[in-house]
Amino acid sequence: MATMTTSELLREVDVPSAVKACRFCGADLRRTFVDLGMSPLCETYPAAANLNRGEMYYPLHVYVCEKCFLVQLDEYESAENIFTDYAYFSSYSDSWLRHADSYCGKMKARFALSEDSFVVEVASNDGYLLQYFVQRGVPVLGIEPAANVAEAAVRKGVPTLVRFFGAELAQELADQGRQADLVAANNVLAQVPALNDFVEGLRIILKPEGVLTLEFPHLLKLIEHNEFDTIYHEHFSYFSLLTTVRLLEAHGLRVFDVEELPSHGGSLRVFACRSDAETHPVETNVGRIIAEEECAGLGTIEGYDRFAAQVKDTKFALLVFLLGAAQEGKTVAGYGAPGKSATLLHYCGIGKDLISYTVDRSPYKQGRFLPGTHIPIYGPDRIRETQPDYVVILPWNLKSEIMQQLQYIREWGGQFVVPIPRATVF
Ligand SMILES: [Zn+2]
Repeated sequence: MATMTTSELLREVDVPSAVKACRFCGADLRRTFVDLGMSPLCETYPAAANLNRGEMYYPLHVYVCEKCFLVQLDEYESAENIFTDYAYFSSYSDSWLRHADSYCGKMKARFALSEDSFVVEVASNDGYLLQYFVQRGVPVLGIEPAANVAEAAVRKGVPTLVRFFGAELAQELADQGRQADLVAANNVLAQVPALNDFVEGLRIILKPEGVLTLEFPHLLKLIEHNEFDTIYHEHFSYFSLLTTVRLLEAHGLRVFDVEELPSHGGSLRVFACRSDAETHPVETNVGRIIAEEECAGLGTIEGYDRFAAQVKDTKFALLVFLLGAAQEGKTVAGYGAPGKSATLLHYCGIGKDLISYTVDRSPYKQGRFLPGTHIPIYGPDRIRETQPDYVVILPWNLKSEIMQQLQYIREWGGQFVVPIPRATVF
């Protein structure tokens, strides 16, 4: 048998097994943004009785479209399987609730919403956001596909439809005369598999002069701050403002303002209206942020190339720290069981041997285990009981709030570790 040269071998493995199409523009996807290996579905927390059943792992291989620059993951599991028993109850984070309350106050003032207005939220979760419009006397409708989560919303007095949102549902509501003055699609765009149908629905459900707001983690910040753990199976797409403007334009929507938010490691709040709306002049923020993105290289395909190397560097730094701590006989616990911890732990190869347990405030997660690694999840009291030397903050985007809540670890000389953008001890 003839031996293959290295360059021949490289060519062999470079051939993609099946070419995928871009979720937005349909072009062939051939260019890797980052390949994070295999990970289990991150919002499935096995109970003790299920630990021997095995779990499905799916690739976290992220592509960037060479034509429209949409950064995207292939869809490996149907959205129905991921979202119908979704464990994420938004209401458990104090800072997140303050964020929602402040959003409602600002929108009501800026767009003069009243008891005669109508606000629709797509992916309304447990009513964490719409409850603040209800308190302010503005009529609302939530749309939420996960039945158990929607029930929690209804108990809070937030009317909620248990449906997947898309052009069909939007048309049904429009035909009933239920178009909205404000549509909130905050932290959902990334999770939409049928992107074009979803955005088409957003236009259909808007009144002619209505306002749409979208919030999503900003791709520019993800790249700048190495936030690779915000990549997980539930997040199919990762948006720059450049690509968002193109996506909305393709569906008859016009971006007229944008704000930068600290949430999720740096998010954008994009304001859009129908392309033919007579109000809502374009604010200067739009051009400014697009210019920043172009300056960072996001307007050319080469600008997306540096991310993979940065991510590997972050992994090595975290492992060096944890291995050092283990060799010194230090005890290490985690704090939080956010979805993104699955990506971080699997990509870095961290198991119970390096982080012995984690804690979470959500009663749903307590007594269960992190997917794949089976690191046990306890209630927060466990930290005081066991007095670990280090507490690794897995939801690093909430690090200030968590460090404040856990100040008491200083009593026994405990320290915090924030893994992203690069392992740092506080
Ligand atoms: Zn594309």
